[in-house]
Amino acid sequence: MLIRTKISYYFHIFAPAYSSIVTHMKEIRILDKNFREFITEKAIQERVDEIVRQMNTDLVGKDVVFLGILNGAFLFAADLFRRIELQVRISFVKLASYEGTSSSGTIKELIGWNEDIRNKTIVVIEDIVDTGNTLERIVDELIIRKVSEVKIATMLYKPQAYTKSIPLDYIGFEIPNDFVVGYGLDYDGYGRNLPSVYTLIH
Ligand code: 5GP
Repeated sequence: MLIRTKISYYFHIFAPAYSSIVTHMKEIRILDKNFREFITEKAIQERVDEIVRQMNTDLVGKDVVFLGILNGAFLFAADLFRRIELQVRISFVKLASYEGTSSSGTIKELIGWNEDIRNKTIVVIEDIVDTGNTLERIVDELIIRKVSEVKIATMLYKPQAYTKSIPLDYIGFEIPNDFVVGYGLDYDGYGRNLPSVYTLIH
């Protein structure tokens, strides 16, 4: 209920010269900012299907734990998890490094390790890889915990912002270096439940 009071939805429908072509452009407002639909729910769900197909091949015969990074990755992790056709386990850890619309660059503590991950293949599930600071912190921790293999899955990736050399195994979409919300990603706590990804209108 609360989210309804904070987010207003409205549609612009443009009817250009050819009446058969109608472009639907969806915009939303969250708190003090406006966002435009950027990646549709349909495109996201099709991409999830493709990634899962690849995982079903790559991960055969491995002892796999999905490691979702909270809060943002909970939807992507759930979508992958319910479609994977292999026996895998899932666990979540939490690490916060971001406030408002620009990265603070500070990394907070990783909490929530309660799974025995030694000698396992870990598929880290991220909502978005921006600078890669978060990812590096997680991968360092996994190495200390003596996992046998690390794979990285991220729904969104900002190549222009990425400063690390850790390879990303499964990427949903490469996006420009702009602030986005939806599909798990928030603006000051709101917008995570949006099924599409929206980009900030400057
Ligand atoms: P990194 O450590 O790669 O710079 O940032 C990773 C984290 O920053 C993500 O897990 C996410 O929480 C946050 N982040 C990075 N870019 C965005 C963005 O465009 N929108 C939102 N909502 N969060 C972002």
